[in-house]
Parts: sequence; structure tokens; C-alpha cells
Amino acid sequence: MGIRDIITVPNEVLKKVSEPIDNFGINEKKLINDLFDTMYKFKGIGLAAVQVGILKRVIVIDVSEKDKKKEPLSLINPKIKNLSKRTSIYEEGCLSIPNTFIEIERPEECEVEYIDINGKLKILKCDGLLSTCIQHEINHLDGKLIIDQLSKLKRDLIIKKISKSKKNPDRVIV
Ligand code: ZN
Repeated sequence: MGIRDIITVPNEVLKKVSEPIDNFGINEKKLINDLFDTMYKFKGIGLAAVQVGILKRVIVIDVSEKDKKKEPLSLINPKIKNLSKRTSIYEEGCLSIPNTFIEIERPEECEVEYIDINGKLKILKCDGLLSTCIQHEINHLDGKLIIDQLSKLKRDLIIKKISKSKKNPDRVIV
């Protein structure tokens, strides 16, 4: 098991654009396995490599229902080819923005091209939760977060709250 630490806001790494992968080898396979371990451990349905501090265009996703068979999906160098005009709204959370949920409107369907874990070029057409999740994760690869569309005031408030809750110093009695 390779559980990695998840980077949270306001870490500047989350705003960086990830680089495409040219050579897919053992290290990349290990990275994907670690991303799945980390995502399952923290109960997310998607995770991008940048969220563990690796600026490579890799995302992992599993939108299967709780207690049902797992459906791990990893996408290397994913590229959106088509988005529907019709939109849908989900309340989205993010492992990099703890305890925060924001209603986000996105195209309902998307078509994405990617390289799978066996190095094959694939195209996936999807809608609903999977489509939303893929768009959310690809946003991460481009340095975009769900709080970016809020006003600066609201965004700062959320970040302040998260930074505070992390401080929790150890209590010492001297
Ligand atoms: Zn996220």
C-alpha cells in the first residue's frame, strides 16, 4: 500500500499546470497504484497526481457505489474532446479542500481521450457523476479548483477556516 499525503489549499502547488507523461513505466504504474490507495483511504471518488504533489497528468477515479464492486479507472494525459451544451449541477467536494461543498454547474456529458494503464489510447463518452468527476480532476491538472469560481472574499474565508483547523497544536502541561 502506498498512501501519500494529500496537499490542501492554500498550497501553491495546486495552482500549477501538470506536465504530460511521455514514458509510461514502472514509476508511473506505482504512482497510479499509490493514487488509488490514497483515494480509497480518504474516501474520495477521484484524485489527480498534483494533489499528492506530483505534477504529472494522471488522474484516478472510482464512482462505483459504496459496498459494490470497485471500478477503478485511471486516465493518463486525459484530454476533453467534447462537452455537451446541456449542463448538470452537483454539490462537489475536494480532498484538497476539506469539509467544503460547493454547487458547480458543468456540461452534463463529456468525451475524453486518454491513455489507459496498459498504454492504449482510448476514448470515453460519459455523463452524470463520472462526467462531473472527470472534469473536476482534469481541472486539477490545469491548476483549477472548485473554489476558483467563488468571490475572493468567500474563497479567503474557506481557506482561513481550513488553515485554522489544521493548526490544532499539541497540548502540553508544564
Ligand atoms: Zn478535487
